[in-house]
Amino acid sequence: PDAASRSARLFARAQEFLPGGVSRNTLLYDGPMLYASYAKGCRVVDVDGRERIDFANNVASHIHGHAYPPIVEAVSEQIGRGTGFTMATEIEIDFAELLCGRSDSFDKIRFVNSGTEAVMAGMKAARAYTGRSKIAKVEGGYHGAYDYAEVSQAPSPENWGAADCPAAVPLAKGTPRGLVDDTIVIPYNDTEVALKILNRHAHEIAAVVIDPLPHRVCMVPASGNFVNALRRWTIENHALLIFDEVITFRSEVGGMQAHYEVRPDLTAMGKMIGGGFPVGALAGVNDVMQVFVSGEYGVPLPLSGTFSANPVTMTAGYTALRYFGPSEVAKLNELGDYARKNLTELFRTLDIPVCVTGIGSLFRVHLKPEPPKNFRETFQAPAEKAVVGAIVRSLYEEGFMMIHTCSAALSTPMTRLEIDMLVDALNRILKSLRPRILE
Ligand code: PMP
Repeated sequence: PDAASRSARLFARAQEFLPGGVSRNTLLYDGPMLYASYAKGCRVVDVDGRERIDFANNVASHIHGHAYPPIVEAVSEQIGRGTGFTMATEIEIDFAELLCGRSDSFDKIRFVNSGTEAVMAGMKAARAYTGRSKIAKVEGGYHGAYDYAEVSQAPSPENWGAADCPAAVPLAKGTPRGLVDDTIVIPYNDTEVALKILNRHAHEIAAVVIDPLPHRVCMVPASGNFVNALRRWTIENHALLIFDEVITFRSEVGGMQAHYEVRPDLTAMGKMIGGGFPVGALAGVNDVMQVFVSGEYGVPLPLSGTFSANPVTMTAGYTALRYFGPSEVAKLNELGDYARKNLTELFRTLDIPVCVTGIGSLFRVHLKPEPPKNFRETFQAPAEKAVVGAIVRSLYEEGFMMIHTCSAALSTPMTRLEIDMLVDALNRILKSLRPRILE
């Protein structure tokens, strides 16, 4: 926005009190920082009165768009009755029952406050259950801010190590070395190399964590072969398999795991299951979930959180999912197919090396001739990153909110009209950026 805009003035003021002017580093990039005023359905209006179609939905957390009337109504009523007590509430049981009914791998569920916490709880549960300390994860996979989950997202190739032996690189400066050494990094969808690496640590690994559609790795689904192999390996080696479905749970009624022949031991969820409120959840099979309750010498993994399962989040999440059943899931996934088909057609017509990946209601646009297959292929050199930034910024200017990687998470109020508008805008933008894309 121009320097006189209200967003620009707010951002200047924010610098005084918030490091970098924000509380979420993911909102910070070299584009304009915008401030929201209000939103309804799939449209969000900023403080300068500019309306945009929202393809970001608070990074995939609003499955029904903004201010969905059934959620507003249910939550407003709950707020009037109190927002949290030093007691449990019935809605927590209702919501747990609803979620456990959605997947064979969900015998029990624990609610927490974020995806980060859900992944952390999963990793700690695996360690408590197996008595082992190492966690294996996919190179480049984003699983939130728990130290172990952060390893291996090095932004520049010189730190990656060999392709058949990816380095465990800490994200945050000062991360304890021991902790990094306890994180085993495997390449995405490369079964042979992954198993070779896992075998080297077979007796020390508590769990293998995998996101079946990793946004920052490439947003291509995990192959059945890869998932089956990880499941087999974890069973044979007495380790657990954890699915991170913080983003992907929306893919099917029972999460994206429904696409595979195998079931994980534990599943981390978050984002859309909170109906727009802060949430996380860890679901799993009975004997593993027992670590939160009782062991031979007490509770193996005591886990509490002041706001965990607070009735506001429980009410919002329960309402969101009650209105996101088989027909809504199918309809939204179909809309995603429509978007990917039309985007692919556009890139072909424009004859530019751009492609789209994703499944269901999630997609990502890459400046690559072919879909990247892993973290390394998804890597953007500075010039390429600048063009992606320019596309996202131009979309802002034209009235579209994307996730900053040029990804989208659709919401149920959307129709083909909004997709057509996005494709139209991209047609204009990509034509004008064509020389830079071809450089
Ligand atoms: N796992 C995945 C796959 C995620 O995308 C995210 C958030 N983008 C997280 C975990 C962490 O969730 P939260 O931001 O709620 O802590």
